[in-house]
Amino acid sequence: MNPSRPGAQEPGERDILSSCVHCGLCLEVCPTYQISGDENNSPRGRLRLWREEADGRLPPDPWTARYTEDCVGCLACETACPANVPYGRILEETRHAHAEKGRSAVSMPLRLAAALASRPGLFGLLAAPLRWLRRLGLSPSPMLFPGKPALAESTADYAGRINRQLNPSGPRVALLTGCLMEAVFREINFATVRVLARNNVRVEVPRAQGCCGAMREHLGLSGVDELRRANRGAFSGKGYDAVLANSSGCGFALGKALAGEGPVVRDVLDFLGTLPLRPAQRKAGAARVYVDLPCHLVHGQKVPGIPKAVLDATGLPWELAPMARDCCGSGGVYNLQKPENARQILARKAEFLNHAQGDPVILATSNHVCMMQWNTARWQGLVKRPYRVSHVIQLLDEADGGAA
Ligand code: SF4
Ligand code: SF4
Repeated sequence: MNPSRPGAQEPGERDILSSCVHCGLCLEVCPTYQISGDENNSPRGRLRLWREEADGRLPPDPWTARYTEDCVGCLACETACPANVPYGRILEETRHAHAEKGRSAVSMPLRLAAALASRPGLFGLLAAPLRWLRRLGLSPSPMLFPGKPALAESTADYAGRINRQLNPSGPRVALLTGCLMEAVFREINFATVRVLARNNVRVEVPRAQGCCGAMREHLGLSGVDELRRANRGAFSGKGYDAVLANSSGCGFALGKALAGEGPVVRDVLDFLGTLPLRPAQRKAGAARVYVDLPCHLVHGQKVPGIPKAVLDATGLPWELAPMARDCCGSGGVYNLQKPENARQILARKAEFLNHAQGDPVILATSNHVCMMQWNTARWQGLVKRPYRVSHVIQLLDEADGGAA
């Protein structure tokens, strides 16, 4: 389907663009409508612009491209929509059509980043200085939250080492390590391997896997099909009980690649919720966890939330953050493309941290790009007190002694 190609739609494709019944129920969940109050910056408004162009009533217009770029892609509108408008699919195809026709510009640094993401070996090598700086506590950007990633050992090698040490005999799963996650934040992958192995899950890391394609999808760049095909080769037909992702955006994208192929892609925390988890070993102090739910977990993968048993197993008092199901403004690379919008969207959610109880206050989520966005709130002046950003899997890992 190409919704921006005037007069070229098949009847079924036109039906999809016309399936919006204009009820407006999506407006109140749309972050860009909330910050702008502009109907064109809402799901209903964007659908209308795309349909008007498709029907030839509106000539291709820079403002349509601008409103398309302004969409975070959070998919909250899909969850809210009573008419089941497949907004995400339409958005993905429209972005691609706009990029192909030069109606939306993708900056050279983002094109380079997308190219690097498709070459994980090279990306990991070039990102070694960032891992080193993070280990030293010298992150050059507020997006690079604190952590101690391994400099040389890959998650694949680490998983092999942990399997030999603990010899888990339960389910056999494959782990999607991700491009940015493995290159810069691989301590989260290591924590994931430890938590799974300690709960008797055997983790394998197929070396032929590659980028999930989410970044290219977001930017409208071509090459997504090739990445999906490569990942089908890496994960399908190997007899895994599941393919696990510890980043909800990557898991959502990989799920589209492997749909109907055999192994089910699951969020690692959702998967852990099906197991009898080891109880936390730590003594709870004054720390308090505020859980934020990534859009691509709840609206993309349609997982209702992070299981209570999993959050309890952190051994820490926790509660859902206010507006936990609303977008934080990260949107993959949206906060790089539209920093002012992303800041305004985050501001609405982050204010509560200024008066949250706990020492330390921990903002926990399950997507590294959301963690990056949350980590900027203090630097942007939205939060005036210290807080820690963590992946829930890291809290589970710490509850069981961490890397020790
Ligand atoms: S995907 Fe999110 S930002 Fe885009 S229209 Fe839907 S609710 Fe609004
Ligand atoms: S909720 Fe669905 S049907 Fe209603 S206005 Fe939004 S997109 Fe259209």
